Amino acid sequence: MLESSSDWCEERGSSVRQQIQKGPSQFRLDSIRGQILAFAILAALVPALIISLIAYAQSRRALTEKITQELVTTGSQAAREADVWLRERLYDLRVFASSSVVSETVARGGRPERLAEYLTSVRARFADYEELQLVDAKAGPVASSAPHPSPVRLPAEWGRSFESSRGLVGEPYWDKTAKKVVVVLGVPVLQGNGQIAGALVARVNFTSLVQVLQAFGARSMGHVYLTTERGALIVDSRSGSSGRDMTSMAPEVANRLLAADGKIVEHRGFDGVEVLGSAQRLSQAAWFAAADMPVGDAYRQATRLRNLAFVVIGGLLVVTTLVAYWLAALIARPLRRLTSAAAKVSAGDLSVGLPAAGGGEVGYLTQVFNTMVESLRKNREELERMSTTDQLTGLGNRRYLMNLLPQEIERARRAAKPFSILMLDVDHFKKYNDNHGHQAGDDVLARVSMVLRDSIRPYDCAARYGGEEFLIVLSGASLEHARECAERIREQVRAKQIEGGPVTVSIGVAEYPSHGDTVDAVIGQADAALYEAKRAGRDRVTCADAQGSEQTVETC
Ligand code: GH3
Ligand code: MG
Ligand code: MG
Repeated sequence: MLESSSDWCEERGSSVRQQIQKGPSQFRLDSIRGQILAFAILAALVPALIISLIAYAQSRRALTEKITQELVTTGSQAAREADVWLRERLYDLRVFASSSVVSETVARGGRPERLAEYLTSVRARFADYEELQLVDAKAGPVASSAPHPSPVRLPAEWGRSFESSRGLVGEPYWDKTAKKVVVVLGVPVLQGNGQIAGALVARVNFTSLVQVLQAFGARSMGHVYLTTERGALIVDSRSGSSGRDMTSMAPEVANRLLAADGKIVEHRGFDGVEVLGSAQRLSQAAWFAAADMPVGDAYRQATRLRNLAFVVIGGLLVVTTLVAYWLAALIARPLRRLTSAAAKVSAGDLSVGLPAAGGGEVGYLTQVFNTMVESLRKNREELERMSTTDQLTGLGNRRYLMNLLPQEIERARRAAKPFSILMLDVDHFKKYNDNHGHQAGDDVLARVSMVLRDSIRPYDCAARYGGEEFLIVLSGASLEHARECAERIREQVRAKQIEGGPVTVSIGVAEYPSHGDTVDAVIGQADAALYEAKRAGRDRVTCADAQGSEQTVETC
């Protein structure tokens, strides 16, 4: 019964231990370690991410405002510069047109050769002009600065444009002769009556405007360019005037830029990169000037800030994880110790004791645990003591004796020394009980046990074998020594002042190993000797003989 209960305890304990070993070694979110780690990571990550995102958004907004202002200002200034350039060119043409040689040739039929000379001299002085040409009212060439005048591309109904404005601005195009992008500008040549007699037209290149825009572009943040309303590139602060193919942006982009009106528009730029741009119409022509810059450059500062924030958050995360891991281990270690100790206790091992785990809840829990185990240990010891002690006499009981004797045999075997046992029985005890009552009989048993306790050495043992029978184990004692001891006990019992006394005892003595080499054998021999003592008249000591046979039991 006892064995099966301890087996159950051991089985249960080992299964608990297995669970405990399995549990904490794995990372689980419902473990303390997992929860501390998760909390620390969230506590570090969430605020850091929110702050970084807010900072990134604010810095991006501030940059957008700054870039908008910069690009809008640059675009407007570029438009103004281009307007000024156009106005100057038209003004110059008007000055040339008002020359007397021009009016004489147109109005009074002067010599075109003189006019050609005049135009050539003007052309030589102003590098902007590829060719200056005077045309009559039907657009027929009258005189030109070029030896072989090329037909001038005039818009249909060009004469009318002079009614609404004081100059004509054509569509820029690639001029094969000049190998440049040019634009035809024209001013009317009037007769004395105010009628349009013809026009002074010029193919003008953009060299001086390019220089202006390049100088201007170098001062501002972005890239500055000039396009027609349909998006064909005319002049660019990076590469000068447009090339032969007259690069063009998508009309939809051009429309968006023009519709944005003082705002910036994100779009694909001429070189295929996403840019932020702002455009401004010119007042002198159906063109617009724009400034743009790549989105990557515009937000580089914000992107750098965001990347730096990610690096810092990453570092913070690593540090937080390490600290949380260390903290979690600090908390989980004593708990694991506690759990493992509790598993041992549940398996029946009450020898566990945990080191004090400092202050705090875990320390208090450890103290309570130790106290609880100590109290369980005491209870168990008390139970064990009670289960092996005879309550009436305070001596060990038969169970105690049966545990002790095999150990005594083992010790005697190891030491190659004998030991002896005395089997003692109160004489005519039934009669005593009958005469004096059971309570008085109990007192006799208690007093006999006191004699036994006082007569043996500390390492000997006296136990109540049953009823009014006692068994004394004399460690290392020979038969002779045991007999003397038995005799002393017998005399002391007899000498005791007991009501209705004297009370006498009979004692059988046997020695291990000469009378038996097992517990049962040696007890059997002592019992036989006791029987012999009784038979021989009681109140005496009888020894078993060396052969261990019942017949040879003799009075010592
Ligand atoms: P003998 O000399 O042959 O040993 O005679 P006896 O009367 O002692 O022998 P027996 O074994 O027949 O009687 C033992 C008695 O001991 C019987 C029982 O009433 C008594 N007895 C056993 N245990 C106790 C006990 O704990 N208290 C008391 N008062 N009496 C007990
Ligand atoms: Mg008896
Ligand atoms: Mg008896």
